[in-house]
This record gives sequence, C-alpha cells and structure tokens, in this order.
Amino acid sequence: MSKFWSPFVKDLVPYVPGEQPKLARLVKLNTNENPYGPSPKALEAMRGELSDNLRLYPDPNSDLLKQAVANYYGVNGNQVFLGNGSDEVLAHIFHGLFQHGAPLLFPDISYSFYPVYCGLYGIPFEQVALDEQFQIRVEDYAKANGGIIFPNPNAPTGCLLALDAIEHLLKANPNSVVVVDEAYIDFGGETAISLVDRYDNLLVTQTLSKSRSLAGLRVGLAVGHPDLIEALERIKNSFNSYPLDRMAIVGAAAAFDDRAYFDDTCRKVIDSREALVGELTARGFEVLPSAANFIFARHPQHDASELAAKLREQGVIVRHFKQARIAQFLRITIGTPEMNQALLDALN
Ligand SMILES: *Cc1c(COP(=O)(O)O)cnc(C)c1O
Repeated sequence: MSKFWSPFVKDLVPYVPGEQPKLARLVKLNTNENPYGPSPKALEAMRGELSDNLRLYPDPNSDLLKQAVANYYGVNGNQVFLGNGSDEVLAHIFHGLFQHGAPLLFPDISYSFYPVYCGLYGIPFEQVALDEQFQIRVEDYAKANGGIIFPNPNAPTGCLLALDAIEHLLKANPNSVVVVDEAYIDFGGETAISLVDRYDNLLVTQTLSKSRSLAGLRVGLAVGHPDLIEALERIKNSFNSYPLDRMAIVGAAAAFDDRAYFDDTCRKVIDSREALVGELTARGFEVLPSAANFIFARHPQHDASELAAKLREQGVIVRHFKQARIAQFLRITIGTPEMNQALLDALN
C-alpha cells in the first residue's frame, strides 16, 4: 500500500498462476502445458525472424497470422482478433463487451481469472452452480445477464458441453454476448467457430498455449461477428498497438499451417489421457470425463492436498484448488507416457 497508488489498486484480487518452479527435473503436471515441443516449422519461422528486422515495429494488425487463422477455420480476416495470450483477449472482452450493468454469468467451478477481470473492470457477476456431476446445465442460465462466459471443455473439470447446448444458450440470449473459451477444445471437442456466421452474439476464444505448445510465446485469438471484433480492436488500439511481436506473428502462423504436427501431438496427448484415466481408475480414483489435456480426479481414501504435497516430495507437481466444492480433487496435466508413469510410480 502506498499513497501513490490509484484508489482501486488496493481492492484488486489478482489471479494466482500455477507454480513455474525454478528447479529442473520436476515432473511438471500442474499448468496444462503441452509435453511435446512446438511445431519444428514454427521454430524455424521464428529463427528466420531473429534478425536486424527486430529494430522495426511488428505489423500492428498481425495480418499474416490473422490470415493463417482465417484460412484454418474458413472465416474472414475481419472475424479474427489476436492478442498477447488469450488472457489478454479475455481482458479486452470483459472490458469492451461485458459492462452492461446486469451480472455476467459463469459457472461456480470455472477459470479463476474470470472473477479477477470482473474485479479489474468493475463488472458485477453471478456464479451459476454446475450440477451434481460437475456439468454445465444451460437451463440455469435463463436469467437476466450482461453476458455469459465459460470454458469448453470446462476448466478445471475437463468436461465438455455439446454444440447443441451452446446453440440453445445463443438462441436464449440474443441480447448478450456468449463467450466460449476454447483453450482446450483441440483435445476432444468440436469448436463452436462453425456457429459464428449464424449467431452475432457468439465469440469463441482460443490459445496457442495448449494444443499448439506455445505457452511461452503468448498468442491467443477470438473469432466472431465483425462488429464484436471491431470492439476488441478499438480497445486494443487504445491500449497497446503491438501486442504480438515479430517472432510471435510468424511462429504462430507457421504453427497453424503445420496441421500434420498438430494432429499428431494432439492424438498422442489424447491417447495418453485415456491410458492414464484407466490407470488412475484402477487405483481407486474417480476421474471426471475429460475432453482436455488434463484430468480432474479424486480418491475416496486420500485427502487431495496431502496427496499433492506427497507427490511434490517425490518430484511430481499437480494442481490443487482450495475452493470448497473441489478441494478433494487434483487437476493433473497429461504428460508424455514417461511423465505419466512417473506420476503413477509416485502414487504407488
Ligand atoms: C490456459 C487458459 C487460458 C489462457 O491461455 P493463454 O493464451 O496462455 O493466456 C484461457 N482460458 C482457459 C480456460 C485456460 O485454461
């Protein structure tokens, strides 16, 4: 606290990211990074950009990457927004599309950055309880709102909401923006981007941090109606004209163009997930159905925070949330088969 702070700073409740330990040799299954490296073509493109050109500002519109995303999804460039990680894209969405007085709705168990952005931008919100099976029930969102947002698959549960349920929400809320945060969609879901031409209130966000293994590069995107995208561009151009640097633009574009590598690594993660679910179930864990690159699991005989602490002693880190309803769960990122075996050995 200091007299120099703007008045609202002391009331902020910042997001607490998962630990990025300085120790090497830990089996890191706590922040949903991809265990496989980025596309070699993305690395090559970035090496090519590492030159004297870095003295020049990047393209403020990142047109090369916008076009790569538009081609990949079969949409137009003016339906795509880019940001420095999808967290930044989400921040602009909260700032520009959710300040309408009525509460923003999101699930009680969900991405813990949402309430933080509400605090930052002074947005009232209401958390809608997931059902007993930790699923989103769309009927529960039939109330006055200033917008709706949820991850799909949800985080940290990994559970997927079907496209027809999303369509139901879009139809029931023609006067609110519905944001589907698809950080994990490539590990087993179907993107709602196929619906953007039919619903002007739909905005889909994605990140290159998970399925494209570029968490360190910081690139995220949103796809939706050009009017929604224009609002985000107005905010971006009032905040930072160059959120994506030269390396990020060419690296991310090359990652989108390299479908073969992407398909192969996603498939490996999905196969490892199914194998790990089997192994954990055999050890008495209850595992929620996951369409993500992580699983959410609890053991009826072992306290989750104790398990997390004991795993850490053995060099394996997983994520534990203190929130009452999920305090007995562990969120475990899917690693390579070797990393997953290290987890199982430690559990044994
Ligand atoms: C990881 C994650 C993000 C943020 O991704 P970045 O692009 O790395 O900022 C957004 N939403 C959810 C649900 C996530 O899990």
